[in-house]
Amino acid sequence: MAFFPASLENLIDKFASLPGIGRKSAQRLAFHVLALPDGEAEDFANAILEAKSHVKCCSVCQNLTETDICPICSSDRRDRSTVCVVSEPRDVLSIERSHEYKGSYHVLHGVLSPISHVGPDDIRINELVKRVAAEDSEISEIIMATNPDTEGEATAMYISRLLKPFDIKVTRLASGLPMGSDIEYTDDLTLANALKGRVQI
Ligand code: ZN
Repeated sequence: MAFFPASLENLIDKFASLPGIGRKSAQRLAFHVLALPDGEAEDFANAILEAKSHVKCCSVCQNLTETDICPICSSDRRDRSTVCVVSEPRDVLSIERSHEYKGSYHVLHGVLSPISHVGPDDIRINELVKRVAAEDSEISEIIMATNPDTEGEATAMYISRLLKPFDIKVTRLASGLPMGSDIEYTDDLTLANALKGRVQI
């Protein structure tokens, strides 16, 4: 039986469905939203709708952007011959923070995971192969920067096999990244070193 009015229960449910938010935190957030002045609550709701309607995937690298082609892909200061493949948009941010990398990216939006039923067609692998296979492709190196855990490794190996027929170098982030770690939480220096010391796979 519900303790709160139905619409409040619904709001709590919505917060509780967010990653990392437990029932208690969801209640706290819902009460906070209820206590907001009308205008602010509306701004909050609109921010969700606006982000949802404006943010899309870059038609080249699949990173999140508000334009058809993202600022990194459209910048003429970035090296288009090197493509760093990451699993999530937030990993692009981490690598940009290391200031070590001047190439472009490809965001997979996930990793291969048989346990979670994520197969090659569920993430943006085909888009990467198409980029490499394109007639006007300038790509000469693909850096696999998926997390050094079981699924990240398997994804890197799968993609490197797919790219074998093409005349390009496929490398993997090197030393300093402990097995099972997460690119997002790796410090800038370790990530910079891992990029510098990447090895061919
Ligand atoms: Zn892009």
